[in-house]
Amino acid sequence: MEIFESLAQDQHEQIIFCSDKVAQLRGIIAIHDTTLGPAIGGVRMFPYKSEDEALNDVLLLSKAMTYKAAAAGINLGGGQGVIIGDPHRDKNELILRAFGRFVQGLNGRYITAEDVGTTVEDMEIVRYETKYVVGLSRALGGSGDPGPVTAIGLCSGLLACVEKVFKRKSLEGVSVAIQGMGHVGYHLAQKLKEAGCRLIVADILTEKTEKARQELDAEVVAPEKIFEVEADVFSPCALGGVINAENVEKFKVKIIAGPANNQLADEKYGEILHKKGILYAPDFVIGAGGMINVANELGGYVREKAIKQATGIYGIMKKILEISEESNIPTYKAANILAKVRIAEVKKFRQRHA
Ligand code: NAD
Repeated sequence: MEIFESLAQDQHEQIIFCSDKVAQLRGIIAIHDTTLGPAIGGVRMFPYKSEDEALNDVLLLSKAMTYKAAAAGINLGGGQGVIIGDPHRDKNELILRAFGRFVQGLNGRYITAEDVGTTVEDMEIVRYETKYVVGLSRALGGSGDPGPVTAIGLCSGLLACVEKVFKRKSLEGVSVAIQGMGHVGYHLAQKLKEAGCRLIVADILTEKTEKARQELDAEVVAPEKIFEVEADVFSPCALGGVINAENVEKFKVKIIAGPANNQLADEKYGEILHKKGILYAPDFVIGAGGMINVANELGGYVREKAIKQATGIYGIMKKILEISEESNIPTYKAANILAKVRIAEVKKFRQRHA
């Protein structure tokens, strides 16, 4: 891959290749856009098959972080780190500390956090070498598991969607099919149950669905059946790419709203959902509660403040639905417009010397 061509394609600012022979670190940090503030984004550890695959991933993820922060009204830019390696086999103190030193070397232009293949505990090791890390445990003054705040943000965004589609003022009586009973999925299910929703759930791990059945009175379906459940809402809380050629014709719901990153396997499925009259809540908007939660660590974490900000996703979702209706465009496009306009406007007024 031509590096400068890749940078220019989506207007990334910077790529940092991180190599440390002693720690056996091979990592990449991508900074997409710092117009709104320092770039924030997790560090993913994954056994990438090639350097190109790792580079592609870090470029895509860092760009998505820019949009996520911009749409959520956060004063941060987008970045991402990746470490090439199997987290179960290759992760150790040295590799995490070596990565932390590269983060520190950027002097605050990039703030790292946990992601796929890394944990809150790993970030505590990264912190030995850098102060530019968030997503730490509550005991260390951090924000802890972002799942509960992400779930609160999801419920707020979902309410805006339900108001629009069903003309109802609450989530009571709404049926929601949830794929994945993990950190976010289970907290979401709890919140929805409290709000009076009917739950249908699936997970590849039966102990997780069994817990939801016993504790939340959820109906359990097989993982492959969750896409075709007759319900009001489908909430992807497991994997990306679930809105794809295979599933797009199966959905019987009126709303798709969940946190899983990059749900649209291709943007064309966003167009298809729009034409079919299925309201798709853009994942980077409705799932922004996790980012809001960790970003709150930067000013000294106050949980009430993080929760209040996450409930603001309701207003952001309403704005996106307005843009989508006024211009008759799919919601994912409306969300992109919202994010791009904010970045462009801030860029303009910052041209003045201060
Ligand atoms: P998690 O790993 O805790 O949970 C994922 C769950 O999905 C697991 O229980 C897993 O068994 C299940 N699963 C995997 N494949 C499945 C399949 N084919 N069918 C049904 N279930 C399946 O992850 P999480 O932290 O809950 O995050 C879920 C998604 O939301 C991810 O895509 C993540 O990137 C995104 N996200 C998470 C947060 C957060 O606060 N944790 C915030 C924003 C976005």
